[in-house]
Amino acid sequence: MKIKLDRTLCDGFGKCAEHAPTVFSLDEWGYASLAGSAEVPADLEPQVRRAILDCPVDAILERLATPAGRLTPPAGELAPQPGPA
Ligand code: SF4
Repeated sequence: MKIKLDRTLCDGFGKCAEHAPTVFSLDEWGYASLAGSAEVPADLEPQVRRAILDCPVDAILERLATPAGRLTPPAGELAPQPGPA
């Protein structure tokens, strides 16, 4: 699985690093960042899914692959749709 951490949403609750300390690290104020790659190894997926569910501000997103093999854009990065003429 691939994830994205939106650091602008993180409020420093630390749940992510509690569940998956090798994936998330906390700075001196408790705000999270990815400790390594956004690609999560299969054996760590359960802990990361728990972190996604427990993050109180939904700052961690799983990026899902589309049938064409492309990753869905995170919320806020969706292309505008054409409106009526
Ligand atoms: S659980 Fe969410 S709010 Fe808390 S440190 Fe991790 S990303 Fe930030």
